[in-house]
Amino acid sequence: MDELVKEALEDDFRVNLEDAENIKRALIAYMVRVVGHDPRSAGPRQWFLALAHVIKGILSERGMKTSRAQYGDDTRRVYYLSMEFLTGRRLMKHLLDLGLEANVRTALEALGQDLDVLAEEEPDPALGNGGLGRLAACFLDSLATHGYPGYGYGIRYEFGMFSQTIEDGQQVEHPDNWLRRGNAWEFVRHNVVYPVRFHGRIACFRDETGRERCEWVDTDDVHAVAYDLKVTGYDSPVISNLRLWSARATTDFDLRFFNEGNYIEAVKDKTTSETLSKVLYPMDTTVLGQELRLKQEYFFVSASLQDILARYLRVHEDLSRLHTKVAIQLNDTHPALAVPELMRLLVDIHGLDWEEAWKVTRETFSYTNHTLLPEALETWPIGMLEHVLPRHLEIIYLINHDHLQQVRFRFPGEMEVLRRMSLVDEDTQRIRMAHLAIVGSSKVNGVAALHTRLLRETVFPEFDEMYPGKFVNVTNGVTQRRWLLQCNPMLSDLITEAVGPAWKTDLTALHDLEPLVEDAAFRERFIAIKVANKQRLAEHLEAETGVATDAESLFDVQVKRIHEYKRQLLNVLHVVHRYRQLREGLVTDAVPRTVFIGGKAAPGYYLAKQIIRLIGDVALTVNNDPQVNDRLKVVFLPNYNVSNAEITIPGANLSEQISTAGTEASGTGNMKFALNGALTIGTLDGANIEIKDEVGDDNIFIFGLTTEQVAETKRKGYNPWKVVEQDADLRQVLDMITSGYFNPQQTNRYQAIRDTLFDGGDHFMVLADFRAYVDAQARVDDLFRDPDAWARKAILNVARMGYFSSDRSIHTYARDIWNVAPMEI
Ligand SMILES: *Cc1c(COP(=O)(O)O)cnc(C)c1O
Repeated sequence: MDELVKEALEDDFRVNLEDAENIKRALIAYMVRVVGHDPRSAGPRQWFLALAHVIKGILSERGMKTSRAQYGDDTRRVYYLSMEFLTGRRLMKHLLDLGLEANVRTALEALGQDLDVLAEEEPDPALGNGGLGRLAACFLDSLATHGYPGYGYGIRYEFGMFSQTIEDGQQVEHPDNWLRRGNAWEFVRHNVVYPVRFHGRIACFRDETGRERCEWVDTDDVHAVAYDLKVTGYDSPVISNLRLWSARATTDFDLRFFNEGNYIEAVKDKTTSETLSKVLYPMDTTVLGQELRLKQEYFFVSASLQDILARYLRVHEDLSRLHTKVAIQLNDTHPALAVPELMRLLVDIHGLDWEEAWKVTRETFSYTNHTLLPEALETWPIGMLEHVLPRHLEIIYLINHDHLQQVRFRFPGEMEVLRRMSLVDEDTQRIRMAHLAIVGSSKVNGVAALHTRLLRETVFPEFDEMYPGKFVNVTNGVTQRRWLLQCNPMLSDLITEAVGPAWKTDLTALHDLEPLVEDAAFRERFIAIKVANKQRLAEHLEAETGVATDAESLFDVQVKRIHEYKRQLLNVLHVVHRYRQLREGLVTDAVPRTVFIGGKAAPGYYLAKQIIRLIGDVALTVNNDPQVNDRLKVVFLPNYNVSNAEITIPGANLSEQISTAGTEASGTGNMKFALNGALTIGTLDGANIEIKDEVGDDNIFIFGLTTEQVAETKRKGYNPWKVVEQDADLRQVLDMITSGYFNPQQTNRYQAIRDTLFDGGDHFMVLADFRAYVDAQARVDDLFRDPDAWARKAILNVARMGYFSSDRSIHTYARDIWNVAPMEI
């Protein structure tokens, strides 16, 4: 058989990657045989498909080699469970990873096609909200690049993150029908199907050995069907897999109804069960508590664990040693039901003792916490769990029983500690998923140094005391392959020319750029590249929105989800302040600026949507005021997603990372910008602190209250009225916004914003940080007046970003949490 396969792969379908002529022939062959279109009349869409299939074939071949090596090795594998994977488009990434871009471009030219036009045919798979999903995608890239045996598991949402348009200044959401024309990259595995059960009841009995066994019966079942996406790494023979589950009804028709002739009733159940993988919840860092979401979480956890156990049992028998071959990372608490689910599988299905199963479970899982915001901590109503997952609720109670026993032993007589540490919130009658994930894991990590410290000191202090060494930090990172090599080819070429290509897989090699700061010719080329990237951004924006911008001006960019804690509002206050100063002639030598703000608001988040609207209203006034027009422009970048980020980030001079200290767990946008030579204006929050430590205090604009000062200010009784009273500029700015200066047709439009800032107590300290922010922006202007001095600092930022690669994050997880090593292939 081996020989047969080898021979068959030698035939004319086989692609010789070294040879553009051969690639061209393969494209034509795939066009005819796979796409089924006449090459003579094929357009970019068909050529994209043919190319995708050619690449998919190569990936499949390589993927099989990886699997064989893994079975041979029998190494411990890592499974990354995440509700979200924000991968971005695949085509250019695969070409880059395989080293194929130049030859494919040539082959396509011979066919009268332009690779860049083809690439636009691919929809951007938006299977995530923001940072958390994008992190998962960066991690898959680093795992594959460095040859770790890693798999991703998630959901194949039929509708991903909505696409955003702005109509009459307001966000409008449109369904993201990304599968409308199929997905060229996926392999559907109709043979990899698992039942996932819901509802029903528990029947316990004594088996023949006298042991109590429980069965979950009378359930409503759904099938999970596997769809695989091959994950490539840069210049790496290892191919990883991202397996996404799609829900399918177990029975197509309920014949009882069908026989009665009620066709609609017959298919209704089918539709209901298939809604499980229908749509991504578009909320970042807030939870809604809807039953469908709970079912989605369990659906993908259950299918993934069944798959992981099946793979383990193909070569091993003894499930009590599962943890020696399997490490499972829980990306936030969304997959935390994996803890009771693994217990159920081990105890109820495979007959392990409770104690033994618990040991295996705890050694198998690790959990990454992503947020400190209380509204983002998942809890589920006991009643809902009882209805949807009755056996899991029982298992959670059993886990809690043992857990509380240990808590009593560790903190004798401390009833308040017991209450706080319980998996059950007695007041609200809800299960605390973070607590479940903590007790069910061997390691818990935060995603930046400050975040991990706050987790240990303020959010879970008793857990930290009880489990010394369990809480560890792994600062997030971004992959330099997408966020420099792919999105900024000019800067990549300059760097490679200057210091060689090592940075592509070892970002610390960028340190070698430092001496070039003193090289005037290098600085000039660096500046020219930034200008070219700004022009590219300006052209893209004009094509998309019709808004013209001036690439000579300072490009000041804040792109990320719209959220009060990220403080886009602070940005707007500064813009209005600047506008007023320009209008009233208070400054005469202002640096011309274009302020870009972009991001999606959760559909039900009224204040976030109001902030978008305010940006639009301010932009309309400012951009049409001839008195200031060449000195200040405001632009809302619609539909922020990975593809838009790839154009926006390289074009930025200034990166806005201005969250209230103590609220942004890490941030990864901050890293992408600095890596592309933007300077950061930011608070001492999340990974900004570590960025400052790396790039040096002189090469970043830090402002505002620290986490401790925020807490202190609040403790002493923070009074927003007082802050405003003492700052005439701030008073004027707020007056303009709340009096309808920017929206005379509806003067009370921003009442809700006014209310949060004043009556609501300005929870995110926007007003408290206003003055410090305005002062920091003045320092930005001063530096920008000296392009050469600015460029020196920007180059030093790039040179000192080595630490923020997701490669470093992954090496740290591999060493400190997973205990896995790269494969040999
Ligand atoms: C990196 C990224 C994010 C995260 O940005 P933050 O500034 O860290 O919040 C969100 N969305 C997209 C599309 C990204 O690429």
